[in-house]
Amino acid sequence: MCIICRGEPLEGLRVLDCSRCPNITEIPNIVGLQILDCSDCRLLTEIPNIVGLRRLNCSRCPELRSISNIVGLQVLYCSDCPNITEIPNIAGLQELYCFSCPNLTSIPNIVGLIVLYFSGCRSLTEIPNIVGLQELYFSNCLGLTEIPNIVGLIRLYCFSCPNLTSIPNIAGLQILRCSGCLNIKEIPNIAGLQRLVCSYCRLLTEIPDIAGLQYLNRLGCPFLEDNNITKVVYIQRWIRYKMQIRNFNVRLALVRAIHPDLLNICMSYYSVF
Ligand SMILES: [Zn+2]
Repeated sequence: MCIICRGEPLEGLRVLDCSRCPNITEIPNIVGLQILDCSDCRLLTEIPNIVGLRRLNCSRCPELRSISNIVGLQVLYCSDCPNITEIPNIAGLQELYCFSCPNLTSIPNIVGLIVLYFSGCRSLTEIPNIVGLQELYFSNCLGLTEIPNIVGLIRLYCFSCPNLTSIPNIAGLQILRCSGCLNIKEIPNIAGLQRLVCSYCRLLTEIPDIAGLQYLNRLGCPFLEDNNITKVVYIQRWIRYKMQIRNFNVRLALVRAIHPDLLNICMSYYSVF
């Protein structure tokens, strides 16, 4: 039970925390409210368009079907809202966090957005090219195949998106973390990049010589070794110890079935067979 359920006066409230209330179905339109936390309200179906609201957390509200276009809202958390299909284009929004909204089909191109975080949004097929975005984080989005070249982006975190095939060469990018993207084959030579984490990008065969790079983590990239001999050793070990098959044609078929890139590397060092 929260302050609304208790019937206490709400006039003049600047901050309202009614999170985890099992009873409320709607929020009153409180004049002057600036911060509203109504997360984890299982029955909440509606949030009014509260003029002047700056921060809204409506995460984990399973009955919420839409979010009002609240003019002046700066920060919006709407994670784990399974019935939200879209986010309004809120002028002036600076930070948007929408993790695990499986039915979210698009994110609008919000002018002025600085931070955008989302993950597990399996219906999302496109990232808007938001001019001025500085920080972009997303993971486990099966529908995403590419990242736009966002001018001004400083930090890019993209984890475990198996259908991403490339990373754009974003001028000015300082931090790139793209762990577990199984189909990324190369990292662009991004001038000015300071930190690069590309662990478990299993198809990476090389990393460019990025001047000024201060930190590199390439754990779990089997083909990213210092020389070709190591690649051969890795493939030999993989075939002999994991496959336990001596017949050449069977080995070739298995390699081909697993990935064409592996085949190419094997063929270029045919002595493996
Ligand atoms: Zn309540």
